[in-house]
Amino acid sequence: MDFDTKKLFRAAERGRYAIGQFNASTADQIRAIMRVAIELRTPVIIGTSEGECKFIGARQAVKLCEAYEEAGISVILNADHTYKDVKEIKNLDTIRALLDAGYNSIHFDGSVLSFEENVKWTKQVVAMCKEKDPGISVEGELGFLPGVSQISKEKVEIKPEYLTDPAQALAFVEATGIDRLAVSVGNSHGISFQEDRLDIERIAAIKKAIGGRAVLVLHGGSGIPSDQIQAAITQGVRKININTELRVAFHDALTATLIGSGETTPYKFLPPAMDAVASVVEGKIKLFGSGGAAL
Ligand SMILES: [Zn+2]
Repeated sequence: MDFDTKKLFRAAERGRYAIGQFNASTADQIRAIMRVAIELRTPVIIGTSEGECKFIGARQAVKLCEAYEEAGISVILNADHTYKDVKEIKNLDTIRALLDAGYNSIHFDGSVLSFEENVKWTKQVVAMCKEKDPGISVEGELGFLPGVSQISKEKVEIKPEYLTDPAQALAFVEATGIDRLAVSVGNSHGISFQEDRLDIERIAAIKKAIGGRAVLVLHGGSGIPSDQIQAAITQGVRKININTELRVAFHDALTATLIGSGETTPYKFLPPAMDAVASVVEGKIKLFGSGGAAL
């Protein structure tokens, strides 16, 4: 996966669309996502959280994504929320291993750290990635995002102090040299009891502050109403992460297929689950507007 991801995001900026990050932890899910990406001719980002990466295998995830290069589709493989537990950051061995495995994108989430500590560690991650290959894309995060990637029956509270401050966002981008900035703008991880309400004005203010210095990223895209996603893209969001909706689609279709069927052949019971994932991905890519943008 030897290409400059900057080029993909520059094209997204020109075309005013967002590139989707779809998380996966099995080969079936990656195949379902890629089937849609090829059909709609769009660049795509496959995301693996630490748990997802551990399950599928870093080298295996890289090889699965590389297999799609011959289809002429640019696949960014992003290590999502590396160091979920920041207490584990003693050195950056995990990131080094991911780079060695062939990941071409790293998201380092230091958002629970103080601003200074977040800058310090993010800067080191950027230096390590760029030394490996200047084409590797690095995402940093500023502002806190509550919730986990599942359906939550409880109300997820987004406190005002969680939200990303536009002036601080610019300072963070300039101090760290990141390619992409994930922000807290009313979004949360997972699908919560109440719908997220994006702070569109804040998105516009952050975009105005950081300009073309970094790509604006929206995490927790699952469960956000389409009109708000569209407004966020209009104001400059160029990467949107989707995980929970894919997990739910896969789980529900698989459950419905297996219960009472007695089917034991994986290539017979997996396709409906893959179709369900593909259908969610198709809806998102159409909403994000990246179809036909393959490079
Ligand atoms: Zn996230």
